[in-house]
Parts: sequence; structure tokens; C-alpha cells
Amino acid sequence: MRLRPHHLLCTQGYSGKGYNDEFIKNMDYITNIIRKNKNTIINLIFSTDDICECCPNMISENLCITNEKVKSIDNKITKYFSLEEKEYVYNEIVDFIKNNITEKIMDDICCECEWYPISSCKKKILDK
Ligand code: SF4
Ligand code: SF4
Repeated sequence: MRLRPHHLLCTQGYSGKGYNDEFIKNMDYITNIIRKNKNTIINLIFSTDDICECCPNMISENLCITNEKVKSIDNKITKYFSLEEKEYVYNEIVDFIKNNITEKIMDDICCECEWYPISSCKKKILDK
């Protein structure tokens, strides 16, 4: 499964809301897999991923309608947690992030996302 860096957070925060029915169906599918089998191997890529593939905002490979914003969010999480384009075990990298993220870091990473004020991402990710 291919995931872009900031989707390591979104897959934890997801609670059934999204851009349209197709996006939600795909997000349900992906989060079910990684939440049931947290040893799922993910391929971290600095580009559009398996979540973007069913998103109405994806224009083409490596191009989202809000590319500047999503690349900025990707860059921030990548720098904070020294992420690389390689394979990770989902639960290992997510546990590492959860153990090291603070409210200040999360505010910095997610502040540009329109879901941040209205979603349960912050609570789900910061609650230990
Ligand atoms: S606030 Fe946005 S970027 Fe942050 S985890 Fe939630 S959906 Fe993802
Ligand atoms: S908004 Fe952009 S980065 Fe987010 S899932 Fe859709 S295409 Fe991917």
C-alpha cells in the first residue's frame, strides 16, 4: 500500500468523513486494512498515493488541486520525523510518531488543513 507522509496522520484521525462517497469508500477500505492488521507494510512515497487515487482533488500523478498545501504538510511531517521514501511497518512508524508528536508539532503540521478544526484528528492522535 502506498501512503504519502501526512496520510500517516490522516489514517489515524479518520472517522468516516471525506470529500465524496468514492473517497470515503476507499478510505474505509484502507483504514480497515491497516487498523485490523497493523503489521501492514506501507510504501511511503512523496507523491500521490492510494488514498489520493480515489480523491476528487487529484488531478494527475503527483498533482493535487491543493498541491502547494499538501506538499507543505508532507514536508513538515517528513522533517519532524525524518521520514524517508521507503517501506515501513505501519504500526511501527505510527507508534513512533504518536510517541514523539506534541500538540505544538501537530498544530504546525495540520494548521493548513481544512479538516483540522472540525475533525477528531487532534484528539485521536494526541490521546496516548
Ligand atoms: S487535520 Fe488534516 S492533515 Fe491533519 S491528520 Fe487530520 S485530515 Fe490529516
Ligand atoms: S486532497 Fe490531495 S493530498 Fe489529499 S487525498 Fe485528495 S488528492 Fe490526495
